[in-house]
Amino acid sequence: MLGGTFDPIHVGHLVAAVNARDALALDRVLMVVANEPWQKVGERPVTPAADRLAVVEAAVASTPGVEASAIEVERGGVSYTADTVDELCRLHPGAEIYLVVGADVVAGLDSWERVDAVRSAVTLVVVNRPGSHPVDLGPAGPVATWRAVAIEVPAREISSTDLRERAATGRPLDYLVPEAAIRVIRERGLYASWR
Ligand code: ATP
Ligand code: MG
Repeated sequence: MLGGTFDPIHVGHLVAAVNARDALALDRVLMVVANEPWQKVGERPVTPAADRLAVVEAAVASTPGVEASAIEVERGGVSYTADTVDELCRLHPGAEIYLVVGADVVAGLDSWERVDAVRSAVTLVVVNRPGSHPVDLGPAGPVATWRAVAIEVPAREISSTDLRERAATGRPLDYLVPEAAIRVIRERGLYASWR
């Protein structure tokens, strides 16, 4: 699983997803759209989950092995990875679960709800992200207590924060967000101020 707010999804997320799938020979990568990202709500307006999910669906529609997951949106309420991991374990008994995160997320893992349950259920997959230091996976590093692997993906210096700003000021999203996803953003009038 590769979870996120995806407000909106961009090629940084997708490059991470397809390369994690390839490097680790994963059957499927679920792009899990947070319903209520508890660390972001209150900090800034978050686009309705149904819209963010529709954009993710469009973004991955033609990418084999990468899927949009509505598991957190359907559950409703605040989204905790621990609940999602529990649910995935129930739905897919015996499956090995890999949790893909960008290097920027690692520092906050200890603040996650029931992080111990997450830690014991998954293998953490850390992908490099421009602007974040490479994560030390060794015994002195921040994920020493996790089953963790690092994978190197082509660096894409893109964030949803920057894309929201671009969209709001009428600058292009082309080549940063898949075309089909841009169409849904436009149709739904998200991140307004489209020319
Ligand atoms: P925001 O700026 O709103 O925080 P974001 O671009 O960081 O948006 P998120 O939805 O917060 O996107 O990220 C979901 C996951 O994708 C996180 O694990 C994050 O580290 C990872 N990720 C996001 N952008 C990139 C990128 N450009 N390269 C590698 N990983 C990324
Ligand atoms: Mg982020």
